[in-house]
Amino acid sequence: MAGETGNLTPKVQIKGVEKVYEGRNGKVVALNGINLDIHDNEFICVVGPSGCGKSTLLNIIAGLHEATAGEVLVDGVKVEGTGVDRGVVFQQYALFPWLTVEKNVMFGLNLRKDLTKQQREEIAMKYIKMVGLEKFVHAYPKELSGGMKQRVAIARAYAVNPSLLLMDEPFGALDAQTRTQLQSELLKTWEEERKTCFFITHDVEEAIVLASKVVIMSARPGRIKEIVDIDIPYPRTQETKMLPRFTELKNYIWNMVYREYLEVQK
Ligand code: ADP
Ligand code: MG
Repeated sequence: MAGETGNLTPKVQIKGVEKVYEGRNGKVVALNGINLDIHDNEFICVVGPSGCGKSTLLNIIAGLHEATAGEVLVDGVKVEGTGVDRGVVFQQYALFPWLTVEKNVMFGLNLRKDLTKQQREEIAMKYIKMVGLEKFVHAYPKELSGGMKQRVAIARAYAVNPSLLLMDEPFGALDAQTRTQLQSELLKTWEEERKTCFFITHDVEEAIVLASKVVIMSARPGRIKEIVDIDIPYPRTQETKMLPRFTELKNYIWNMVYREYLEVQK
């Protein structure tokens, strides 16, 4: 309960965020008045048709893009640039090809001047083990499969101990089997650490199996169409997808997203 800790301020407050891009063919309104509170320990999944502004919103929370209007507060502090309190994982692995798995995971940790090299190595190893890559500590990204590279990216995001994880379709480029495996691993980690997650996906099943709340965005200009509470208790596994309630939620959310998709086609 939030009341027990006395901390009633939402972890993330998105207040009237708008984003207008100046494109070659004029202005593109990517986001139009986004308001959303994200509470500590929530797992938010964002779904919506391609181009509705999901990545734009994530990049604004990460501090990589600036909102045209409105603001984002994390722990009550206005976001003005990136910060180690926010770990980001993208669909494209974004690993440094010239660094080993260990050095990639240690990358953000190296900014922590309060830690000795040995401490940094121990932390890196903890998260490399968490994602099951202890046999590949000294391997380079080119020696790894897509799923393994994405595991490294997740370990790297966790290693700096951010209080908020931002993930933009992190499993989008993986085959179905690897994707379900990584979903299960992420669920297990989240159930242990309960780090607040903001996770974008175009896969409705993935959204429901992971999320405590699914945010459905409308076709461009992106707005929040509906927030659906996923009232299926954790721990969740791939078997959760067999539950009648899962199917119900899936049909409901899928229909909403499909209607927005049809809007895009008009
Ligand atoms: P999503 O992640 O939901 O697919 P994006 O946030 O990537 O959507 O993009 C939202 C809209 O903003 C799209 O129409 C896209 O073309 C446009 N857009 C994104 N980035 C830029 C940019 N740097 N310059 C101009 N338009 C952009
Ligand atoms: Mg995107």
